[in-house]
Amino acid sequence: MDNFVAQITSRHAAHLTDAPTLELKNVSVAYVEGGNGVTSLHGEHLALQDVSFQVESGERIAVVGPNGAGKSTLFKLIVGTLKPNQGEVNVYGHGPHGHICIAYVPQRSQIDWSFPVTVEDVVMMGRVGQIGLFRWPRRRDWDLVKASLERVNAAHLAKKQIGELSGGQQQRVFIARALAQEAELLLMDEPLAGLDVPNQEAIFDVLDALRPDGVTVLVATHDLNLAESRFDRMMLLNKRIVAFDVATAVLTPDNLLEAYGGHMHTVGGSGVVLTDECCGGFEEVEG
Ligand code: ADP
Ligand code: MG
Repeated sequence: MDNFVAQITSRHAAHLTDAPTLELKNVSVAYVEGGNGVTSLHGEHLALQDVSFQVESGERIAVVGPNGAGKSTLFKLIVGTLKPNQGEVNVYGHGPHGHICIAYVPQRSQIDWSFPVTVEDVVMMGRVGQIGLFRWPRRRDWDLVKASLERVNAAHLAKKQIGELSGGQQQRVFIARALAQEAELLLMDEPLAGLDVPNQEAIFDVLDALRPDGVTVLVATHDLNLAESRFDRMMLLNKRIVAFDVATAVLTPDNLLEAYGGHMHTVGGSGVVLTDECCGGFEEVEG
């Protein structure tokens, strides 16, 4: 019982020990035409249709699919900023609302990088859920911020403005924020977009170092090679789940044709070329 109470007080929403880390059951979402992000079961733009899956603790999942496949919508549902028009989203057995254990890094285009805030303040924001809005950070909170920045090799950036950093550094700072938050489920929407290979590798090194903590990681990406080589399973999405399995089972010509359709060409009989381009979609700048 004490343990149960401790879980409620530390995470705000209790974890059911026998529930999967993440479970979606028959989830559908449709946006209303001109509705500025409003959804309705009868909306004109179907974003996700009858999506069901489970993710276990500590798994690393790549979410792939063409522009408009519903990747960002899926993440917003898991974080709880968007409600499904149909179906259920559960994190550790409860609806997403109130889970302090979820950390979400939105697509770059949705972040206002000119907002005047230092790196260490961004990471401290990860502590707000843990320490409450009306208490000043204590020594332990600042120690955690410092340790989190050290774990992503960004301690030297602590006093810089977040907008001054390179794309790779910014992504690492957001991982540090998730660490400071003591997150158990980390969602990153296209963190690799626009990064060169060394910066992508630096992110994977940091994610690898999280493995012993049992942090579950979902990453939306357009890079099928990285999705294949650096993740446990791959979800191929195009409004509905085309395939969700280990990469070799997902990356079949039939599955790719179903997901990418006109953006795919076969070459030389067995080779496949995708012409999908990264990161279009809706720009909502959040302050
Ligand atoms: P992805 O991240 O895979 O590119 P999104 O989740 O952003 O896909 O979009 C899924 C679908 O929902 C697309 O058809 C897109 O046009 C539509 N959509 C996304 N956001 C909105 C919005 N705010 N208003 C209307 N339609 C939207
Ligand atoms: Mg997106």
